[in-house]
Order: sequence, then structure tokens, then C-alpha cells
Amino acid sequence: MKVCCIGAGYVGGPTCAVMALKCPDIVITLVDKSVERIAQWNSDKLPIYEPGLDEVVKKCRNVNLFFSTDIETAIKEADLIFISVNTPTKVSGNGKGRAADLKYVESAARMIAEIAQSNKIVVEKSTVPVRAAESIMHILRANQKPGIHYDILSNPEFLAEGTAINDLLNADRVLIGGEETTEGHEAVAKLSWIYEHWIPKQHILTTNTWSSELSKLAANAFLAQRISSINSLSAVCEATGADVSEVARAVGLDSRIGSKFLQASVGFGGSCFQKDILNLIYICENLNLPEWRPTGTGHRHERLPEAPLLPEIIESLFNTWSPEQIIDDLTHPSVTESPENVKKAVQIHSDPYSAVRATHALVICTEWDEFVDLDFQRIYQSMMKPAYIFDGRKILDHERLHQIGFHVQTIGKKYQR
Ligand code: NAD
Repeated sequence: MKVCCIGAGYVGGPTCAVMALKCPDIVITLVDKSVERIAQWNSDKLPIYEPGLDEVVKKCRNVNLFFSTDIETAIKEADLIFISVNTPTKVSGNGKGRAADLKYVESAARMIAEIAQSNKIVVEKSTVPVRAAESIMHILRANQKPGIHYDILSNPEFLAEGTAINDLLNADRVLIGGEETTEGHEAVAKLSWIYEHWIPKQHILTTNTWSSELSKLAANAFLAQRISSINSLSAVCEATGADVSEVARAVGLDSRIGSKFLQASVGFGGSCFQKDILNLIYICENLNLPEWRPTGTGHRHERLPEAPLLPEIIESLFNTWSPEQIIDDLTHPSVTESPENVKKAVQIHSDPYSAVRATHALVICTEWDEFVDLDFQRIYQSMMKPAYIFDGRKILDHERLHQIGFHVQTIGKKYQR
């Protein structure tokens, strides 16, 4: 079987790499309109960082995994085509909310319609609003050449940035939605066969197309609700003397609730929660179904300057630091270059010890192990005194930091000076 994936990003890249690793009998070509991105995939410096990704790509690249800008050939030759392009939000048509912007999905569908000369299974990998497959089908059918048949499947991705390879190798479930027709079932079986190379069959869930599309948004909405709930409770803890970690543990031990996603923090990580929730809210309002709304979201997960911890940071830094200095564009901890508009305000360091030298405060916003395992004695010595640590992810050993001499502030626990 030949597979093509349109969109070589955070989802397309790791997904195809793992697929190539586990399916030596399949040839996978990952295409992108960005020449630079494809050049990076073909180099030693991949365009994204994910633990384990380098090794997988090195093993499969130019064996059964190819990166190319030749979209036409890849589409022509493929039996199955993943659409894994970005789906940002845009101001909705009625100006009231933010809806998914499907212009890249549309352009991918138009390319397929124009180029295809044989039957294709087209798989929505991108996160899309429910019934997006219908719009893709309209584009394909309106431009259909005689004798060519299209099947459209929904196969949303549940990986999280930072754990993509592990999430793909050990997925809780793989969801495949298809049309309830004989051809639809056959197409579902073909995609399922790919995943069965490494995912146990009982973890591959098949549904109708619309359930699959909606399940992706619903899963993110439920996860976001949990984060928002615990983050809101952390404010109550800070005001009352309760400790949000203790509350989360006590609540999470109830098997009806469970302990995952009850970690209070400065806000949502990753790029998807906010946009997918806005997308779902928009769909509900558009359908005149305002009764379903992800309650609790929209408070403590918003971006700075309303973010928790910020007042404490400003106060500790002698109230001389203004929220305007906050950097909106640095959304990922593995950035290697400042965006143009923040070049003056931000210095990027590849070494944490040089980054903290002569600083007043260290703020942790990412729960990466490499920030846990630092030599904090050394860090303390190189910082200005008093030295503050703001642990926005609750990942550090605060007792030890106190012993070293740091002033530590975290989420959901009274400020300790
Ligand atoms: P991304 O921005 O990293 O990558 C998308 C790529 O698609 C870009 O490289 C872009 O150049 C390319 N592209 C866009 N239109 C194209 C076209 N017509 N032809 C060829 N290439 C084209 O996006 P991503 O993070 O990989 O996300 C892809 C989809 O997966 C989105 O819908 C997103 O919501 C969803 N998703 C993302 C994550 C995540 O953690 N990033 C997790 C699950 C689902």
C-alpha cells in the first residue's frame, strides 16, 4: 500500500514516522507546501522536537518514509491520503465567535480532486468541526473524474506535543469514522489494517464519520474542563490555606473521577485546547444548542496577563516589571530564535545556567524533566538575591529549594516568602 500525508507538522511528522517504523510493508510520503519544512525533515535538524522522533526518522527515512514537496506525484501514487494540515481559528461569519478556519483543508481537498487519477481513501487527520467530511466530499464529487471513487474517513489524532511518539506507539485508542456503506466499511478496514500493525485490535474503535469528528472536540473539551476546574480551585486554595495538590489527590482517588489531568498549573499547554473548545462552542451556538457549553473553561486558562502567578511575580520584582513585557509569541519551550517583534525583550539561551545568570526570578511554565533535574544550588549562586522561583507547573521539590535559600511560589498554595 502507498500512503501520502499532506501536512508535515506536529501531527503529520510523528504520525508518519511511527507508521513507517511499524509498517515496513507500506511506503509513506509526507508532503508539505513549505520547502523549508521539508528540507528540515530531510536534514539532521528536524523541524520539531519530540523525544524519540530523531531515532525513528533516521531509521525509516529514504527506506519507506519519504519527505517531499512534490505533492502531485505523492497524491497520484497514493492509495490512501491523510490530510494533516493546520486548522487555526478565525472570526466566525456572524462575527460573534471563533470558528475553525478550514481553508487549508479545503485547499488539500482541491489538490486531491485535481490530481487524482485513481481511487483514493481520503482520511481527515486534522481536527475539524463535525460534518467537515461532507464539505470535503462535495469538493471531491464536484470535481470527480469518471471512474474514480473516493472514500472519506475521519481519524482524529489524540497525541500531545512533548509525548507524541509515546502517545502514537501506545495509543489509548485509535478512532476511525466512516460511511455506513459497504465501500465505507471496506475503507475503514484498510485504515484499521495499518494501525493493527502495532495497536491491539480492541483499541481500534470504529464509528460513523460524524461521531468520530465530534469525539475529538468532545475529548478536548472534557480534558480542558478538568484543567479549568482544578485551576479555578487553586485560587480558592491560595485564599484559604488549602493546598491544591492535596485536594487534587483526595479528589482523584475517587475512582469515578480519577487522578489524571488534575494538575493545577498556570494554564493550558499545547496549541489545541483553546482553539478546539472555541470551535465546539461555535458549533453549538450555530446549531442553536447553547445548553451544551464546556462549563468552567474560560477562566484560569487564559493567556497572560490574567494568568495566575503574574501578580506575585510583579510584586516580587519590586513592582517594576510591567505586564507589557510579557512575551506572547514564545509559546514553545524549544524555541531557538526570538520572533522579530520581541527580539529586544527576549534572549534565548540553550543552556539554563546561562539563562538564569544575574536574574531576579526563574519562572517554570513547562513540565519537562530537564527543568526538574537542574543543579539548583548552582542556579541559586548565580542569581540576584533574593532569588525567586515561580513554579507554574508544580514540578520542583519546594522543600529543597527553600533549604537552598530560594523564595518559592507555586499554584494553589499560599504564597511563602
Ligand atoms: P502544523 O501547523 O504543525 O502543520 C501543518 C502543516 O500543513 C504545515 O507544515 C503547513 O505548511 C502544511 N500545509 C497546510 N496547507 C497545506 C497544503 N495545502 N499542502 C501542503 N501542505 C500544507 O499543524 P499540526 O500541529 O500538525 O496540526 C495539524 C492538525 O492536527 C490540526 O488540525 C490540529 O488541530 C490537529 N492536532 C494537533 C495536535 C498537536 O498537538 N499539534 C494534536 C492533535 C491534533
